[in-house]
Amino acid sequence: MPKNDSDSGGDRQLVRKYHRFTIGGLLIFFSLPFGLRDYLCRTMNQIRFEGRNAQFFSTLRSRIDGYFTENNIKQSGNWKLYSKTLILMSTLVASYILLVFFTPAAWISVLLCVFMGVNFATIGFNVMHDGSHGSYSRKPWVNKVMALSLNVLGGNSFFWNQKHNVAHHSFTNIEGADEDIDVSPYMRVSEYQPKYWFHKFQHIYGLLLYSLSYIMWIFYQDFVKYFTGKVGDRDIKTPLKVSDHLIFWATKLGYIAIFIGFPMYYVGLGITLIGYSIMALTTGFVIAVVFQLAHVIEDVTFVGKTSPVTNVESDWATHQILTTVNFGTKSKSLAWLLGGLNFQVEHHLFPKISHIHYPKINKILRETCEEFNVMYKEFPTMLSAIHSHLLHLKQIGA
Ligand SMILES: [Zn+2]
Repeated sequence: MPKNDSDSGGDRQLVRKYHRFTIGGLLIFFSLPFGLRDYLCRTMNQIRFEGRNAQFFSTLRSRIDGYFTENNIKQSGNWKLYSKTLILMSTLVASYILLVFFTPAAWISVLLCVFMGVNFATIGFNVMHDGSHGSYSRKPWVNKVMALSLNVLGGNSFFWNQKHNVAHHSFTNIEGADEDIDVSPYMRVSEYQPKYWFHKFQHIYGLLLYSLSYIMWIFYQDFVKYFTGKVGDRDIKTPLKVSDHLIFWATKLGYIAIFIGFPMYYVGLGITLIGYSIMALTTGFVIAVVFQLAHVIEDVTFVGKTSPVTNVESDWATHQILTTVNFGTKSKSLAWLLGGLNFQVEHHLFPKISHIHYPKINKILRETCEEFNVMYKEFPTMLSAIHSHLLHLKQIGA
Protein backbone atom coordinates (compact mmCIF):
# COMPACT_ATOMS: atom_id res chain seq x y z
CA MET A 1 0.00 0.00 0.00
CA PRO A 2 1.18 3.58 -0.57
CA LYS A 3 2.46 5.47 2.44
CA ASN A 4 0.17 7.77 4.41
CA ASP A 5 0.27 11.46 3.51
CA SER A 6 2.00 12.25 6.76
CA ASP A 7 4.72 9.71 5.93
CA SER A 8 5.35 10.96 2.46
CA GLY A 9 6.30 14.60 2.60
CA GLY A 10 3.34 16.71 3.73
CA ASP A 11 1.22 19.09 1.68
CA ARG A 12 3.42 19.19 -1.41
CA GLN A 13 3.20 15.45 -1.80
CA LEU A 14 -0.53 15.55 -1.11
CA VAL A 15 -1.05 18.11 -3.88
CA ARG A 16 1.04 15.98 -6.25
CA LYS A 17 -1.11 12.97 -5.44
CA TYR A 18 -4.28 14.92 -6.15
CA HIS A 19 -2.82 16.00 -9.49
CA ARG A 20 -1.95 12.41 -10.20
CA PHE A 21 -5.59 11.50 -9.56
CA THR A 22 -6.80 14.44 -11.63
CA ILE A 23 -4.61 13.87 -14.67
CA GLY A 24 -4.42 10.08 -14.61
CA GLY A 25 -8.10 9.55 -13.93
CA LEU A 26 -9.57 12.48 -15.87
CA LEU A 27 -10.94 10.40 -18.67
CA ILE A 28 -12.48 7.85 -16.34
CA PHE A 29 -13.81 10.57 -14.07
CA PHE A 30 -15.64 12.50 -16.79
CA SER A 31 -17.06 9.35 -18.32
CA LEU A 32 -19.01 8.81 -15.10
CA PRO A 33 -22.59 10.05 -14.68
CA PHE A 34 -22.87 13.50 -13.10
CA GLY A 35 -24.30 12.27 -9.78
CA LEU A 36 -21.42 9.85 -9.37
CA ARG A 37 -18.82 12.53 -10.26
CA ASP A 38 -20.38 14.88 -7.74
CA TYR A 39 -20.31 12.18 -5.08
CA LEU A 40 -16.68 11.35 -5.83
CA CYS A 41 -15.76 15.05 -5.55
CA ARG A 42 -17.33 15.29 -2.16
CA THR A 43 -15.72 12.13 -0.90
CA MET A 44 -12.31 12.56 -2.56
CA ASN A 45 -10.76 13.47 0.79
CA GLN A 46 -11.71 10.12 2.23
CA ILE A 47 -11.09 7.60 -0.55
CA ARG A 48 -8.40 8.12 -3.18
CA PHE A 49 -7.65 5.99 -6.24
CA GLU A 50 -3.91 6.26 -6.81
CA GLY A 51 -3.14 4.06 -9.80
CA ARG A 52 -1.99 5.44 -13.16
CA ASN A 53 -3.35 3.06 -15.75
CA ALA A 54 -5.86 5.45 -17.38
CA GLN A 55 -4.72 4.32 -20.83
CA PHE A 56 -6.25 0.91 -20.12
CA PHE A 57 -9.75 2.21 -19.57
CA SER A 58 -9.65 4.79 -22.36
CA THR A 59 -8.54 2.09 -24.83
CA LEU A 60 -11.20 -0.33 -23.60
CA ARG A 61 -13.87 2.36 -23.70
CA SER A 62 -13.05 3.34 -27.28
CA ARG A 63 -13.01 -0.32 -28.41
CA ILE A 64 -16.38 -0.98 -26.79
CA ASP A 65 -17.84 2.22 -28.28
CA GLY A 66 -16.39 1.11 -31.63
CA TYR A 67 -18.24 -2.21 -31.38
CA PHE A 68 -21.58 -0.43 -30.97
CA THR A 69 -20.86 2.11 -33.73
CA GLU A 70 -19.63 -0.47 -36.26
CA ASN A 71 -22.62 -2.72 -35.67
CA ASN A 72 -24.99 0.23 -35.57
CA ILE A 73 -26.65 -0.84 -32.31
CA LYS A 74 -27.66 1.24 -29.31
CA GLN A 75 -26.09 0.59 -25.90
CA SER A 76 -29.44 0.49 -24.08
CA GLY A 77 -31.90 -2.41 -23.99
CA ASN A 78 -33.58 -3.86 -27.07
CA TRP A 79 -36.47 -6.22 -27.92
CA LYS A 80 -34.67 -9.10 -26.15
CA LEU A 81 -34.84 -7.18 -22.88
CA TYR A 82 -38.37 -5.89 -23.44
CA SER A 83 -39.72 -9.38 -24.23
CA LYS A 84 -37.90 -10.75 -21.18
CA THR A 85 -39.57 -8.05 -19.07
CA LEU A 86 -42.97 -9.07 -20.39
CA ILE A 87 -42.34 -12.76 -19.64
CA LEU A 88 -41.05 -12.11 -16.10
CA MET A 89 -43.88 -9.71 -15.21
CA SER A 90 -46.52 -12.04 -16.66
CA THR A 91 -45.27 -15.09 -14.78
CA LEU A 92 -45.27 -13.10 -11.53
CA VAL A 93 -48.86 -11.91 -12.02
CA ALA A 94 -49.98 -15.40 -13.08
CA SER A 95 -48.37 -17.08 -10.03
CA TYR A 96 -49.94 -14.50 -7.72
CA ILE A 97 -53.42 -14.98 -9.19
CA LEU A 98 -53.10 -18.77 -9.04
CA LEU A 99 -51.91 -18.74 -5.43
CA VAL A 100 -54.33 -16.17 -4.02
CA PHE A 101 -57.53 -16.78 -6.00
CA PHE A 102 -57.33 -20.47 -6.93
CA THR A 103 -55.45 -21.91 -3.90
CA PRO A 104 -53.92 -24.99 -5.56
CA ALA A 105 -52.90 -28.17 -3.66
CA ALA A 106 -50.27 -27.65 -0.96
CA TRP A 107 -47.30 -29.05 -2.88
CA ILE A 108 -48.16 -27.01 -5.98
CA SER A 109 -48.52 -23.91 -3.81
CA VAL A 110 -45.09 -24.49 -2.24
CA LEU A 111 -43.51 -24.85 -5.69
CA LEU A 112 -45.32 -21.73 -6.89
CA CYS A 113 -44.05 -19.75 -3.88
CA VAL A 114 -40.47 -20.86 -4.62
CA PHE A 115 -41.02 -19.95 -8.28
CA MET A 116 -42.37 -16.55 -7.25
CA GLY A 117 -39.35 -15.97 -5.04
CA VAL A 118 -37.02 -16.65 -7.97
CA ASN A 119 -39.27 -14.50 -10.17
CA PHE A 120 -38.91 -11.57 -7.73
CA ALA A 121 -35.13 -11.88 -7.91
CA THR A 122 -35.05 -12.14 -11.71
CA ILE A 123 -37.20 -9.02 -12.15
CA GLY A 124 -34.72 -7.26 -9.84
CA PHE A 125 -31.70 -8.52 -11.79
CA ASN A 126 -33.06 -7.90 -15.29
CA VAL A 127 -35.53 -5.04 -15.14
CA MET A 128 -34.98 -2.95 -12.00
CA HIS A 129 -31.18 -3.12 -12.14
CA ASP A 130 -30.91 -1.92 -15.75
CA GLY A 131 -33.61 0.69 -15.16
CA SER A 132 -31.89 2.14 -12.12
CA HIS A 133 -28.57 2.39 -14.02
CA GLY A 134 -30.37 4.14 -16.89
CA SER A 135 -29.41 1.39 -19.33
CA TYR A 136 -32.83 -0.19 -19.89
CA SER A 137 -33.91 2.41 -22.44
CA ARG A 138 -32.78 5.66 -24.04
CA LYS A 139 -35.88 7.29 -22.58
CA PRO A 140 -35.24 8.48 -18.97
CA TRP A 141 -38.89 8.09 -17.95
CA VAL A 142 -38.86 4.42 -19.02
CA ASN A 143 -35.74 3.84 -16.91
CA LYS A 144 -37.42 5.54 -13.96
CA VAL A 145 -40.52 3.34 -14.27
CA MET A 146 -38.42 0.16 -14.54
CA ALA A 147 -36.32 1.24 -11.54
CA LEU A 148 -39.55 1.71 -9.59
CA SER A 149 -40.41 -1.96 -10.16
CA LEU A 150 -38.24 -2.44 -7.06
CA ASN A 151 -40.89 -0.64 -5.00
CA VAL A 152 -43.50 -3.13 -6.22
CA LEU A 153 -41.17 -5.89 -5.02
CA GLY A 154 -40.92 -4.32 -1.54
CA GLY A 155 -37.68 -2.33 -1.83
CA ASN A 156 -37.13 1.34 -2.45
CA SER A 157 -35.63 2.73 -5.64
CA PHE A 158 -34.20 5.89 -4.01
CA PHE A 159 -32.20 4.01 -1.39
CA TRP A 160 -31.15 1.35 -3.89
CA ASN A 161 -29.69 4.12 -6.03
CA GLN A 162 -27.66 5.44 -3.07
CA LYS A 163 -26.52 2.05 -1.86
CA HIS A 164 -25.86 0.38 -5.19
CA ASN A 165 -25.25 2.95 -7.96
CA VAL A 166 -23.30 5.38 -5.79
CA ALA A 167 -21.66 3.49 -2.91
CA HIS A 168 -21.21 -0.03 -4.29
CA HIS A 169 -20.23 0.90 -7.85
CA SER A 170 -17.84 3.71 -6.82
CA PHE A 171 -16.17 2.03 -3.87
CA THR A 172 -16.46 -1.70 -4.52
CA ASN A 173 -15.10 -3.85 -1.67
CA ILE A 174 -13.82 -0.80 0.22
CA GLU A 175 -14.47 -1.15 3.93
CA GLY A 176 -16.92 1.37 5.36
CA ALA A 177 -18.08 2.59 1.95
CA ASP A 178 -19.49 -0.52 0.24
CA GLU A 179 -22.48 -1.70 2.25
CA ASP A 180 -22.63 -4.94 0.22
CA ILE A 181 -19.68 -6.33 2.18
CA ASP A 182 -20.96 -5.13 5.56
CA VAL A 183 -22.57 -8.15 7.21
CA SER A 184 -20.60 -7.75 10.42
CA PRO A 185 -20.77 -9.11 13.08
CA TYR A 186 -22.79 -12.01 11.64
CA MET A 187 -20.20 -12.75 8.96
CA ARG A 188 -16.61 -11.80 8.19
CA VAL A 189 -15.98 -11.42 4.48
CA SER A 190 -12.59 -9.66 4.45
CA GLU A 191 -9.46 -9.57 6.57
CA TYR A 192 -10.28 -5.96 7.53
CA GLN A 193 -13.35 -6.96 9.51
CA PRO A 194 -13.39 -8.10 13.16
CA LYS A 195 -13.24 -11.85 13.74
CA TYR A 196 -15.44 -13.70 16.22
CA TRP A 197 -15.35 -17.37 17.23
CA PHE A 198 -18.56 -18.23 15.37
CA HIS A 199 -17.10 -17.07 12.02
CA LYS A 200 -15.34 -20.42 11.69
CA PHE A 201 -18.78 -21.87 10.93
CA GLN A 202 -19.86 -19.07 8.58
CA HIS A 203 -19.40 -21.17 5.45
CA ILE A 204 -22.11 -23.44 6.91
CA TYR A 205 -24.62 -20.97 8.35
CA GLY A 206 -23.88 -18.24 5.74
CA LEU A 207 -26.27 -19.60 3.15
CA LEU A 208 -29.07 -19.71 5.73
CA LEU A 209 -28.40 -16.08 6.64
CA TYR A 210 -28.52 -15.15 2.96
CA SER A 211 -32.12 -16.35 2.90
CA LEU A 212 -33.02 -13.66 5.43
CA SER A 213 -31.39 -10.88 3.42
CA TYR A 214 -34.50 -9.89 1.46
CA ILE A 215 -36.74 -9.67 4.53
CA MET A 216 -34.04 -7.68 6.38
CA TRP A 217 -33.66 -5.38 3.37
CA ILE A 218 -37.30 -4.43 2.90
CA PHE A 219 -38.50 -4.43 6.53
CA TYR A 220 -35.37 -3.21 8.33
CA GLN A 221 -32.46 -1.80 6.28
CA ASP A 222 -34.60 0.54 4.14
CA PHE A 223 -36.10 1.99 7.32
CA VAL A 224 -32.65 2.40 8.91
CA LYS A 225 -31.56 4.37 5.83
CA TYR A 226 -34.79 6.37 5.87
CA PHE A 227 -34.54 7.39 9.51
CA THR A 228 -30.73 7.82 9.80
CA GLY A 229 -30.04 9.30 6.34
CA LYS A 230 -26.99 7.05 6.01
CA VAL A 231 -25.77 4.21 3.80
CA GLY A 232 -23.18 2.28 5.81
CA ASP A 233 -21.26 4.94 7.71
CA ARG A 234 -21.64 7.57 4.98
CA ASP A 235 -24.29 10.29 4.85
CA ILE A 236 -26.75 10.27 1.95
CA LYS A 237 -25.97 13.63 0.34
CA THR A 238 -29.14 13.92 -1.75
CA PRO A 239 -32.05 14.82 0.54
CA LEU A 240 -35.37 13.07 -0.03
CA LYS A 241 -37.92 15.25 -1.78
CA VAL A 242 -41.56 15.29 -0.64
CA SER A 243 -42.38 12.94 -3.53
CA ASP A 244 -39.64 10.52 -2.35
CA HIS A 245 -41.19 10.43 1.12
CA LEU A 246 -44.64 9.82 -0.35
CA ILE A 247 -43.36 7.08 -2.69
CA PHE A 248 -41.49 5.44 0.20
CA TRP A 249 -44.53 5.13 2.46
CA ALA A 250 -47.14 4.51 -0.26
CA THR A 251 -45.19 1.69 -1.88
CA LYS A 252 -44.13 0.05 1.40
CA LEU A 253 -47.78 -0.02 2.50
CA GLY A 254 -48.95 -1.05 -0.99
CA TYR A 255 -46.49 -3.95 -0.99
CA ILE A 256 -47.71 -5.16 2.40
CA ALA A 257 -51.33 -4.88 1.21
CA ILE A 258 -50.70 -6.80 -2.04
CA PHE A 259 -48.40 -9.56 -0.81
CA ILE A 260 -49.63 -10.01 2.76
CA GLY A 261 -52.99 -8.20 3.23
CA PHE A 262 -54.98 -9.57 0.27
CA PRO A 263 -53.67 -13.13 0.59
CA MET A 264 -54.58 -13.06 4.30
CA TYR A 265 -58.11 -12.04 3.41
CA TYR A 266 -58.50 -14.76 0.76
CA VAL A 267 -56.56 -17.73 2.15
CA GLY A 268 -56.10 -16.93 5.85
CA LEU A 269 -53.28 -15.79 8.11
CA GLY A 270 -51.41 -19.09 8.58
CA ILE A 271 -51.21 -20.06 4.91
CA THR A 272 -50.26 -16.51 3.94
CA LEU A 273 -47.41 -16.39 6.45
CA ILE A 274 -46.08 -19.79 5.32
CA GLY A 275 -46.39 -18.93 1.62
CA TYR A 276 -44.90 -15.46 2.04
CA SER A 277 -41.98 -16.84 4.08
CA ILE A 278 -41.18 -19.46 1.42
CA MET A 279 -41.22 -16.78 -1.26
CA ALA A 280 -39.22 -14.18 0.68
CA LEU A 281 -36.57 -16.67 1.87
CA THR A 282 -36.11 -17.88 -1.71
CA THR A 283 -35.75 -14.32 -3.02
CA GLY A 284 -33.17 -13.48 -0.34
CA PHE A 285 -31.17 -16.62 -1.02
CA VAL A 286 -31.03 -16.10 -4.79
CA ILE A 287 -30.22 -12.38 -4.60
CA ALA A 288 -27.53 -12.74 -1.95
CA VAL A 289 -25.79 -15.71 -3.58
CA VAL A 290 -25.69 -14.04 -7.02
CA PHE A 291 -24.34 -10.75 -5.64
CA GLN A 292 -21.81 -12.41 -3.33
CA LEU A 293 -20.35 -14.53 -6.12
CA ALA A 294 -19.17 -11.45 -7.96
CA HIS A 295 -17.22 -9.79 -5.14
CA VAL A 296 -16.81 -12.10 -2.14
CA ILE A 297 -14.77 -14.92 -3.53
CA GLU A 298 -11.19 -16.20 -3.57
CA ASP A 299 -8.49 -13.93 -5.06
CA VAL A 300 -10.50 -10.70 -5.17
CA THR A 301 -9.14 -7.54 -3.57
CA PHE A 302 -10.57 -5.90 -0.46
CA VAL A 303 -9.44 -2.50 0.78
CA GLY A 304 -9.28 -1.64 4.48
CA LYS A 305 -10.41 1.71 5.78
CA THR A 306 -7.70 4.11 6.97
CA SER A 307 -8.15 7.52 8.52
CA PRO A 308 -8.38 10.28 7.38
CA VAL A 309 -7.76 9.00 3.83
CA THR A 310 -8.26 5.52 2.40
CA ASN A 311 -5.73 5.04 -0.39
CA VAL A 312 -6.57 2.58 -3.15
CA GLU A 313 -3.50 1.35 -5.01
CA SER A 314 -5.19 1.07 -8.41
CA ASP A 315 -7.00 3.49 -10.67
CA TRP A 316 -10.77 3.21 -10.49
CA ALA A 317 -11.20 0.93 -13.53
CA THR A 318 -8.45 -1.50 -12.51
CA HIS A 319 -9.88 -1.54 -8.99
CA GLN A 320 -13.24 -2.63 -10.42
CA ILE A 321 -11.58 -5.57 -12.17
CA LEU A 322 -9.53 -6.60 -9.14
CA THR A 323 -12.62 -6.63 -6.90
CA THR A 324 -14.98 -8.35 -9.32
CA VAL A 325 -15.23 -11.73 -11.05
CA ASN A 326 -17.37 -13.19 -13.82
CA PHE A 327 -18.85 -16.68 -13.77
CA GLY A 328 -20.59 -19.04 -16.20
CA THR A 329 -20.30 -16.64 -19.13
CA LYS A 330 -20.84 -19.45 -21.66
CA SER A 331 -24.27 -20.28 -20.24
CA LYS A 332 -27.13 -18.75 -22.21
CA SER A 333 -29.67 -19.58 -19.48
CA LEU A 334 -27.59 -17.87 -16.78
CA ALA A 335 -27.17 -14.79 -18.98
CA TRP A 336 -30.95 -14.69 -19.50
CA LEU A 337 -31.89 -15.24 -15.86
CA LEU A 338 -29.24 -13.22 -14.02
CA GLY A 339 -29.53 -9.97 -15.96
CA GLY A 340 -25.83 -9.98 -16.77
CA LEU A 341 -24.82 -10.30 -13.12
CA ASN A 342 -22.56 -13.19 -14.13
CA PHE A 343 -20.83 -10.56 -16.32
CA GLN A 344 -20.17 -8.30 -13.36
CA VAL A 345 -16.80 -7.10 -14.65
CA GLU A 346 -18.46 -5.65 -17.75
CA HIS A 347 -21.25 -4.29 -15.58
CA HIS A 348 -18.93 -2.54 -13.12
CA LEU A 349 -16.96 -0.90 -15.90
CA PHE A 350 -19.94 -0.02 -18.09
CA PRO A 351 -23.10 0.19 -15.96
CA LYS A 352 -24.71 2.45 -18.56
CA ILE A 353 -24.61 -0.37 -21.14
CA SER A 354 -27.57 -2.75 -20.89
CA HIS A 355 -26.72 -6.25 -19.66
CA ILE A 356 -28.19 -7.66 -22.86
CA HIS A 357 -24.92 -6.69 -24.65
CA TYR A 358 -22.42 -8.05 -22.10
CA PRO A 359 -21.83 -11.47 -23.74
CA LYS A 360 -20.82 -9.70 -26.97
CA ILE A 361 -18.35 -7.26 -25.36
CA ASN A 362 -16.76 -9.92 -23.12
CA LYS A 363 -14.18 -10.83 -25.80
CA ILE A 364 -13.06 -7.20 -26.20
CA LEU A 365 -12.69 -6.91 -22.43
CA ARG A 366 -10.62 -10.10 -22.11
CA GLU A 367 -8.28 -9.10 -24.92
CA THR A 368 -7.76 -5.57 -23.61
CA CYS A 369 -7.11 -6.84 -20.06
CA GLU A 370 -4.49 -9.22 -21.41
CA GLU A 371 -2.84 -6.50 -23.47
CA PHE A 372 -2.58 -4.14 -20.46
CA ASN A 373 -1.67 -6.90 -18.01
CA VAL A 374 -4.79 -6.38 -15.88
CA MET A 375 -5.91 -9.60 -14.23
CA TYR A 376 -9.38 -10.58 -15.47
CA LYS A 377 -10.93 -13.39 -13.40
CA GLU A 378 -13.67 -15.80 -14.35
CA PHE A 379 -15.13 -19.01 -12.94
CA PRO A 380 -16.29 -21.41 -15.66
CA THR A 381 -19.58 -22.33 -13.95
CA MET A 382 -21.86 -20.93 -11.27
CA LEU A 383 -21.18 -24.03 -9.18
CA SER A 384 -17.42 -23.47 -9.25
CA ALA A 385 -18.01 -19.85 -8.18
CA ILE A 386 -20.24 -21.02 -5.27
CA HIS A 387 -17.51 -23.45 -4.23
CA SER A 388 -14.90 -20.68 -4.27
CA HIS A 389 -17.22 -18.36 -2.33
CA LEU A 390 -17.67 -20.97 0.42
CA LEU A 391 -13.92 -21.62 0.53
CA HIS A 392 -13.32 -17.88 0.90
CA LEU A 393 -15.80 -17.71 3.79
CA LYS A 394 -14.10 -20.69 5.43
CA GLN A 395 -10.59 -19.23 5.09
CA ILE A 396 -11.50 -15.74 6.24
CA GLY A 397 -13.52 -17.05 9.20
CA ALA A 398 -10.95 -19.64 10.37
ZN1 LIG B 1 -25.16 -2.36 -10.75
